Amino acid sequence: MIDVQHIYKTFLVPHEVQALVDVSLKIKPGEVVVVIGPSGSGKSTFIRCLNHLEVPDRGHIFIEGEDILDPKTDINKVRAEVGMVFQSFNLFPHKTVADNVTLAQRVVRKRSADEATKKTMMLLDKVGIKDKAKVYPDQLSGGQQQRVAIARALSMDPKVMLFDEPTSALDPEMVGEVLDVMKTLAKEGMTMVVVTHEMGFAKEVADRVIFMDHGAVVEENTPHEFFRNPDSDRTRLFLSQIL
Ligand code: ADP
Ligand code: MG
Repeated sequence: MIDVQHIYKTFLVPHEVQALVDVSLKIKPGEVVVVIGPSGSGKSTFIRCLNHLEVPDRGHIFIEGEDILDPKTDINKVRAEVGMVFQSFNLFPHKTVADNVTLAQRVVRKRSADEATKKTMMLLDKVGIKDKAKVYPDQLSGGQQQRVAIARALSMDPKVMLFDEPTSALDPEMVGEVLDVMKTLAKEGMTMVVVTHEMGFAKEVADRVIFMDHGAVVEENTPHEFFRNPDSDRTRLFLSQIL
């Protein structure tokens, strides 16, 4: 489904940082990969590359065989097929919850108003906030807003869902409701790449855990092995600091 081959990314401003150094990763359909690592280790840069929000300096990224770094590739099509959920929910404040979920369906997927509305209501039901369809984002809790953002990403029928610390901005009591939606998606077979510090989620849901440090993948393992018997000292140190 996803085949990342030897990508590199260096930022030059404000100072030179090697954000990604020779990162390769293959992800199978239906697989849930959790990416963990210290702040600044390149996790966000990595998953942003999968959505073409960042462009690697070198290397290749194939999504279902399509070379997303090929200048001939339609980036808007890639973005529609690779859904992304961020730490900040980025909902349109002046649109209702339903309109937030409907908009891209109309514009990107060219769905009729009826078809888009039907899909929106189905997805709002799925994430447990159908009753909030007509309210504005600022009338929702953070957890509810993040569930709208997930519904919005799903409305494009993505092949892959990327999550970049989706619960980090939430009050603790709202983390569970967002993780539950993500667990449901995982069970339904969605291919997912999730950057998170929620180790419970990693243990329960991940097929594989990737540990990044200084822009490189330091370790890659099943959650069972990863947490029980980490290979590297850097992983051990990181786990001892967060668990
Ligand atoms: P993480 O998500 O693991 O915290 P990031 O991928 O955000 O790490 O960042 C990796 C490194 O790249 C950090 O040193 C960060 O400061 C730097 N970086 C990330 N994005 C940019 C950018 N747009 N411009 C300059 N430096 C960046
Ligand atoms: Mg990050």
